[in-house]
Amino acid sequence: MEEFLEHFKERTRSEQRWLSDVFEGVRRQLYPLISSSMGLTVEQLTLAVLSKVQRAVGSEVTSLPVSYRLLSLSELTHQQHTACCSSLSWSSAHYREQARKAERALPDYKALPRDNILLIGYLCDGPAAGVSDGVWWVRDAGGSVPCEMLKSSPLWLGRLMFFPTWNYIPQNAPAGGGKAAGYLELIDPPVCVTPEPMTFDPGGSLTEAMGVKRAAELLGQRCDVQVCVSGQVRAISPLLLISARRFFCLILSEEDSSVPVLITEVKHQYWRQTVCVGQYICISAVRVCSLRGWAEHSVLSVTAQSRLHPHVQLHENTEDLETQLMETDSQTHTDSHSPEARVTSHAPDTCMTSNSPDTHVTLASCSATPVRTKHSTLISYKGLITKVLNAEAGLYEIDGKVGLCLAYQPVQKCGGGLRPGTEIQLHNIHFLYRPSPFAPDVVLCACLRSSVQVTAFSPLSSGFETAGTQSSLQRHLLEKNLGASQYLWLCYCQGVIKERLCPRWVREERVCVVAGRLLDCVCDTEPKTNRKRDIYREMLQEAHQCPVTTYYVSWPSVVLWSVRQLCDWMNGEVWASLSLSSLLPPAATHMTGVELNASLAWSADTVSLTKAHSQPLLLVGVLELSSVYGTLQLRDQTQTLNCLCVETDQSGARITNISTAWLGCLVCLRHCTLVMERFMKTHFPSWKHLDQTSYITHKHCRVYLQFCVSDLIIISPSAAMSISLMEKKRDQTDRREDGETSNRREAVKRGRDDDDDAQSVKRPLTSCVSLIFRLQSKQGVMFRNSSVSNTRSHSHKLQLSFTARVTSLGDVQCWNIDPKNRKMQERETDGQNTEMEMHFVDLCVRWFPILHPGSLYRLIALNTKDVSVLKAESISVRGGVKLLSNPTLLINNQWKINTLTDTQSDVPAVMTVSEVLHSSSAPEIVSFYGVISQRITLQEDTGTKPSVQSVTVAKDSSVEEGLKVRLTVQDPEASGQMIQVYVDLSCGPYTPGLLPGASLLLNDFQRKVSKACNVYCRSLPISCVTVTGLGSVGSGSGGSQSPPPMMLLGDWASGGTQQCIVGQVKGHVVCVLSLRLQWMCSLCGSIFRQGSCSRSSCDSVSAVFQAEAKVVVEDGSGEAQVWFSSDTICDLLLLDAGQWEGLQRHVRVKGYVRVYTRGHNMMCDEEAEDSLVQYLCCLCSSNTVCRLISLTCRQRAQRTGKSQLRKVCRGLTEFISKFPPALQLHCLQIHTDSH
Ligand SMILES: [Zn+2]
Ligand SMILES: [Zn+2]
Repeated sequence: MEEFLEHFKERTRSEQRWLSDVFEGVRRQLYPLISSSMGLTVEQLTLAVLSKVQRAVGSEVTSLPVSYRLLSLSELTHQQHTACCSSLSWSSAHYREQARKAERALPDYKALPRDNILLIGYLCDGPAAGVSDGVWWVRDAGGSVPCEMLKSSPLWLGRLMFFPTWNYIPQNAPAGGGKAAGYLELIDPPVCVTPEPMTFDPGGSLTEAMGVKRAAELLGQRCDVQVCVSGQVRAISPLLLISARRFFCLILSEEDSSVPVLITEVKHQYWRQTVCVGQYICISAVRVCSLRGWAEHSVLSVTAQSRLHPHVQLHENTEDLETQLMETDSQTHTDSHSPEARVTSHAPDTCMTSNSPDTHVTLASCSATPVRTKHSTLISYKGLITKVLNAEAGLYEIDGKVGLCLAYQPVQKCGGGLRPGTEIQLHNIHFLYRPSPFAPDVVLCACLRSSVQVTAFSPLSSGFETAGTQSSLQRHLLEKNLGASQYLWLCYCQGVIKERLCPRWVREERVCVVAGRLLDCVCDTEPKTNRKRDIYREMLQEAHQCPVTTYYVSWPSVVLWSVRQLCDWMNGEVWASLSLSSLLPPAATHMTGVELNASLAWSADTVSLTKAHSQPLLLVGVLELSSVYGTLQLRDQTQTLNCLCVETDQSGARITNISTAWLGCLVCLRHCTLVMERFMKTHFPSWKHLDQTSYITHKHCRVYLQFCVSDLIIISPSAAMSISLMEKKRDQTDRREDGETSNRREAVKRGRDDDDDAQSVKRPLTSCVSLIFRLQSKQGVMFRNSSVSNTRSHSHKLQLSFTARVTSLGDVQCWNIDPKNRKMQERETDGQNTEMEMHFVDLCVRWFPILHPGSLYRLIALNTKDVSVLKAESISVRGGVKLLSNPTLLINNQWKINTLTDTQSDVPAVMTVSEVLHSSSAPEIVSFYGVISQRITLQEDTGTKPSVQSVTVAKDSSVEEGLKVRLTVQDPEASGQMIQVYVDLSCGPYTPGLLPGASLLLNDFQRKVSKACNVYCRSLPISCVTVTGLGSVGSGSGGSQSPPPMMLLGDWASGGTQQCIVGQVKGHVVCVLSLRLQWMCSLCGSIFRQGSCSRSSCDSVSAVFQAEAKVVVEDGSGEAQVWFSSDTICDLLLLDAGQWEGLQRHVRVKGYVRVYTRGHNMMCDEEAEDSLVQYLCCLCSSNTVCRLISLTCRQRAQRTGKSQLRKVCRGLTEFISKFPPALQLHCLQIHTDSH
């Protein structure tokens, strides 16, 4: 050391200190590795290092770079945790200028900070002596770091180098290893510290080098000689590691001929880093061999003696690459999207010129539109990486608009230096136009023939730490042999799942599995190509063929919406699609304000999921129960959405309901109905004001999904679903084994039971008690003063609750493990069946949607061995007085319910609508089913506030206060039979699905008969409405699916057990009994005369015209009195639009006119000589009106009242005769084709 410092006596103290540090570093880190043949001392070596360092700093500077520390490689990896750059030759100004330029180009990233570090080491082709892995490493006595270089020479191998300018990018320690790691990007070429070697031995005379053409001929001859071949590199494959063998391929070309060269020798694999496409090279000592993996094709293979030599007449490869713009005459889209002049056609390389039309159309039947496949083109490209789209998936963005997919290549160590800001050059890369809607329009896709070469390292710090290990996505790509379009969709899907379901429902390591299942689900009809990738063919064969040669155009295009996106869309769409006038019936012009606003109060829209977006949609989420709404919900991490799951009728009478096993399942939905219900408070004076939205004082909507169980596709089953599926499978195999002897079957079964026990050992032991029950019926969920409450203090609180009547089968059972929904054991049903009531209060109402009458359930209380907890008790109300009711069990929030059979049996019979209408023995409380044909919101009684308002508002602010509706429910089997059902929706969570067209099961409704003898029903606190079938607003509007039956008036009047409510009638108008025409104030309903309301206190200026007629119609079998209202009278009088308008104008003067039949004449109470009256009288008795007519009518009063006594004249004699009461009908529609 002292000797060494002698050279620097004149230096300052600090410089001397720095020099001794350098000396010490060289002695410790570098000297031990130097070959003894060099005959150098530490002092000599240090002086050599210093001379190189000083030369790098610049000859004009005489001071030493004391601000630079000499770091060993292990110090670098351990101390440097952030990315940095270091350069001895850059001035600060130069660094700042560079950093500014780079940050301007990509403003999202910051430039790498500068650090002053001296780095010296040996360049090797492996991390340790004797280990070669085809990657450049920098090594010293204490450690090694992999490095990337822009250009390298085989001459550098094993030399001690000084690195003037470089970046260091630290990387995440590989899992488990815990060792710090990172890599170097050597920007300036390294400088040899030790003298050049005396000679370079190329291992064969270069003068004997043969051209590619000769070599290609040699391949055919299969002679066993070693030759030296030279040519231009046309393609380089990535370094491959297959069954522990590492190798890569080159294709050398000369004019039209080409020859493949295989580099399998371990010690030559670093050549992969030193050659690049377009370069002229010479390889010595290669021999011909046949490649077993490639159908015995012959290739050239390097030997241990081979040397690589850059050709004498070195071409600057980039020059002839960046020549002309890519010209693809067969592609019409080129000019629109070709990414500028950067896309260059590699002149000798157009091996992919399949001139066949490059578009094929194949049919993938899952979508109606055909899926197009296209051929990709091989191109060269130079660009700047602007973004890492998905490092794990190998997806990058170049130049801000072009995608780069490296997934078909093996993963490069250190991510290949591909960071934002890196300039790259791509050769033999596939050009794909619109392979996927979830990727840039242009995607360049690398296969095994493509090479990716970094031409400038990024000066930016990106924070991306590429793992450098194969990701699960890429593994999936290989296993499933996916095409580029499918892979891009898979990556999109993976991102979506990560964001919306991970980690709560999908574990990080399972994300790719789930994404793969969704891909399967999306491509279910796509024929799977099971052909394995043929790597040699892909790399070497001249008509290039690889998984990317063809691709689908924008397919799969299925979009995955999050629950929030779907909700947002529905909440927007519900108002965007609103057209007030379309919500009103044709008679709207005759409606008063009150009528008009009532019919605007509620409306609904339904949209099929497939229609909601221009691309097919897929919903993915987890099914759960809501204790607030008592409904099923679909949710992801973004939001929850209420769902209405209806039963499916599969193969005949088998009805499948949603079961508990579905809870917690990750499902996807391709088909479902999006329902949007609108609620509006409006104060429109009349229909003329509909365009003035200021009359809408309040609006809100409810959105939810409607689907069948069969629409649900399981992506990841819940534990219970797994059990259920497994047992179904077992049942099937059991059935198949029926032919075998029972002994054997027994044995099999016993074996299985053992299996069960074996499994149970693995499962944690949780003692629990259970009870099997069958549901008889359930009440609706409602706010109730819960009669039973476990905490006395809350005994008067209104809580959501419902009661279910059940039959418990057998006694309460004890378990060591949670039986969940496993098959019932015999002991469970031993014992007596008991009727009991179960009370579901507060949070327990969540069970409501999955409890179906007739189904079997297992109720489980976990973590207890006390069988008495599930014992039902008779309630003692006050002072020990017992109620005369079944024993009751209050369901605990912690208990679980498991469906055992999802098919119903012993379902209590329900009545039809016709039976409810006509059965004389019908009880007061009825249960029946039907289809909704109309829903009308009833006017709320102003003044009486809903009794449970405060509670409902607290639970759900948008609850419709005091909502009561009238449903017209039709008999699905007998058209013309319908009943009005009054439902109070104000006392519980909102009931979704009450839409026209929906099938309903109405349990425990009160049957009432009106004064007009009409039968109707109304809900009671015990009533329960279950929607069993999907309704859709479009199809069910106006009611009947089938036209009402044709009726003879005589039959209709006499009435039968199956008396019709709505029917068609064809008959003759005998006479008009009365006709009333009037203008009414649309606000108060008074007569409106000459522009003002007749009521003095009313200052309304809007009026509506109303008309009513009573007509006798006869059809030979009998007669009826038929009422016509405003919208049908015009048709009755056969007036055209102009005449009808004129008539209304005439009435406006007096505001009111009424003519009626007295005897044989039409007359009016006042002003009989008025021309309007005379016209009406004349019109009503004319043949125009008294004609043959065809009508659809509804019965006005169901059972007619007393018989009437009427005077009948016969000649001169007058009789008084008793007539059956006249049939009273209301005309709904006049059929104009009656003539
Ligand atoms: Zn390819
Ligand atoms: Zn008025």
